[in-house]
Amino acid sequence: MFFTCHLHTCYLHTCDLHSVSPVFVMSPDIIDLSPPLSPETPVWPGDPRVVLRQPFHLARGDDFTLTELAMSAHTGTHVDAPAHYLPDAAGVDQLPLDVLIGPARVVDIGDAGLITASTLDRLAIPPGTERVLFLTSNTARGLMRSPRFHTDFVALAADGAQWLVDRGVRLVGVDYLSIAPYDALAPTHRILLKAGVVIVEGLDMTDVEPGDYTLVCLPLKLQGAEGAPARAILLKGRFVKHE
Ligand SMILES: [Zn+2]
Repeated sequence: MFFTCHLHTCYLHTCDLHSVSPVFVMSPDIIDLSPPLSPETPVWPGDPRVVLRQPFHLARGDDFTLTELAMSAHTGTHVDAPAHYLPDAAGVDQLPLDVLIGPARVVDIGDAGLITASTLDRLAIPPGTERVLFLTSNTARGLMRSPRFHTDFVALAADGAQWLVDRGVRLVGVDYLSIAPYDALAPTHRILLKAGVVIVEGLDMTDVEPGDYTLVCLPLKLQGAEGAPARAILLKGRFVKHE
């Protein structure tokens, strides 16, 4: 697998400026989008808080430390699969990995309280964009860093979801715990999931500027589950396959 880079920092080297054999080079140009999972992580009303229990611990004289984890699959950064809203639909373990890794555009929607079709019309998202991450006032308000759940978060309206589907978007991400508004959860989810659009929720976009990146978002392979927690990162710049 070879990639050419559009920047001088190469991750997988085939760049003419850096004549070394193909190798993954660790770079500081990685932005972590996943907030830490802890009892302080905000959760949807009714969902349990994260529990990290250590039945064995070096500090208590055990030979090793070992953590048990209990949480909803929709905690922190996580992915929604079609089975979340559609009967007999694909689980998170069946999501195509090529959708979860690839070029992504981060768009800033400013102070808009709802992402509608007309909001999207104004954003000049280039045709062919397959992954869109919304940077909203949720991030400026620090919602993913606040232990308390907020109902007044910015989300994608049903007509905005249809707008993305009509333009062939395959993955959409947002900077709070639901892609859909608190008082209208089902329509947006159903439109996206029916079209096979992967939904990524709970992104912490604090360190992200609008622009083009490469997204890597890998949910845990929970068999048959309708969602799963994920570690999501952005690599600065876009990487294209070298034919
Ligand atoms: Zn979810």
